[in-house]
Amino acid sequence: MMAGGSESEAQFRFVVVGGGIAGVTCAEQLALQFPSEAVALLTAAPLVKTVTNFKQVSKTLEDFDVEEQPSSILEEKYPNLKVIQSAVRGLHADQHTLQTENGQIIHYEKLCICTGGRPKLLNQDTPNVLGIRDTDSAQEFQKHLSKAKRMLVVGNGGIALELVYEVEGCEVIWAIKDKAIGNTFFDAGAAQFLIPSLEADKPERALPCKRARYTTDKTTASTEESKELGSALGPDWHEGISLRGTEEVSHRVHVEYECEIEKIYSQQDFLQSPLYSQKSQDLGVWPVYAHLTNGKTYGCDFIVSATGVVPNTEPFLKGNKFELAEDRGLRVNDHMQTSEPDVYAAGDVCTAGWEHSALWQQMRLWTQARQMGWYAARCIAAEVSGEAIELDFCFELFSHITKFFNYKVVLLGKFNAQGLGLDHELLVRCTKGQEYVKVVLSGGRMVGAVLIGETDLEETFENLILNQMDLSAYGEDLLNPNIDIEDYFD
Ligand code: FAD
Repeated sequence: MMAGGSESEAQFRFVVVGGGIAGVTCAEQLALQFPSEAVALLTAAPLVKTVTNFKQVSKTLEDFDVEEQPSSILEEKYPNLKVIQSAVRGLHADQHTLQTENGQIIHYEKLCICTGGRPKLLNQDTPNVLGIRDTDSAQEFQKHLSKAKRMLVVGNGGIALELVYEVEGCEVIWAIKDKAIGNTFFDAGAAQFLIPSLEADKPERALPCKRARYTTDKTTASTEESKELGSALGPDWHEGISLRGTEEVSHRVHVEYECEIEKIYSQQDFLQSPLYSQKSQDLGVWPVYAHLTNGKTYGCDFIVSATGVVPNTEPFLKGNKFELAEDRGLRVNDHMQTSEPDVYAAGDVCTAGWEHSALWQQMRLWTQARQMGWYAARCIAAEVSGEAIELDFCFELFSHITKFFNYKVVLLGKFNAQGLGLDHELLVRCTKGQEYVKVVLSGGRMVGAVLIGETDLEETFENLILNQMDLSAYGEDLLNPNIDIEDYFD
């Protein structure tokens, strides 16, 4: 079935919504598998994200570059793939149609929703509270930072971690609800290993970072629509933009542990609030104030809310019966199908609703967006050709490579003993300023690991986790630096 219909109506066999990693990967895969069928990629932003230089580092670890490119690149590469730049406004799942903002009706046989998420904002109405999600919001952040002396960061995930490390020339108050920094990725030990990096001056970057290059073309990127709905940035989102405030200092980070923001005040509201007592005058005059749940109040130039994302599901919910997960994502089964017939979902917008392997968990990360987009396309292909398909191997073991505070970081399996309760033991090896290695064992078998620094252990540990060998006999020798563990298990 090729594209057809009048200008305001079109028909495609396969329709994918969202030009982020999940959507682009899914659309490319469908266009490849069905070269004589019409595939449409609908996206709100003028630029799409494409994966390049994909490398399978080990059985489950993967590495790739991401390029933000004009959508015409995809159409040149795949003649049967049409990119329609318009946000989706509504879905009639029973009629198999989508409505776009610019008034088009799109008919589909199979649909995959990959609309990502948007930052959870603390207070939508205050102009000095920012979220970072896409190129536009990163530029907005930079604009605020270039005039700032002090900012307050709320959140303890990957974005907050990178932010507090990368920002220079601006005092950072970092409010986290946990006992240790980076709780999403690390335990207290790893946090302790990383803290000195926050106190030291940042080293000059030895090599230009090769991963993401965001080539925002001003002529195309600044429409109102793109401001609302750009794709999520990824690792190294700060590359190429200066993250400097107005002060001379390199790092000045103060962490407020185990607290959240209770209330945000504009300058005017604060001056009229009961908090503005004699003592509070010492807080100085700032554009915005945050009162924390630990009783402290800070004034600052602006607040960055980095507390995770909310899946972008709204345009699809009205009039349909999607099953949503607790985190408000579209719940998908092990074939990436939502509860509406012929509607699939992948990436940050969905929640993996199948029974997970004992060594995998969903995290809204770049790698998983790619894996899900690719697997969703394969599930759609299997469904239309009446073939069976099994859950892909990439969902067997959680694995992620990233960089925090200039250290290489590899996370494997239940790296933070997630869901294990007390039924686990930890082995740790740490050389200050060099490496931090943590292994999670359950019943004598390795179920997770955190590797910070150039440890070279990822492949061996991945194998030990995958083959679930009983390691009880090795005890602490497992991390003995004098034993070449690779040879040991070869
Ligand atoms: P997105 O990339 O958000 O793409 C969604 C797409 O849908 C966009 O193209 C958008 O325009 C489109 N869209 C939305 N609504 C509509 C609509 N109604 N109609 C049409 N189109 C629509 N992950 C890592 O693995 N490592 C990291 O270091 C890392 N760092 C990050 C740093 C930042 C600042 C951020 C924000 C995220 C980071 N992530 C990181 C997470 C990672 O970027 C996301 O998990 C991933 O990009 C999600 O991909 P996606 O395709 O599901 O969604």
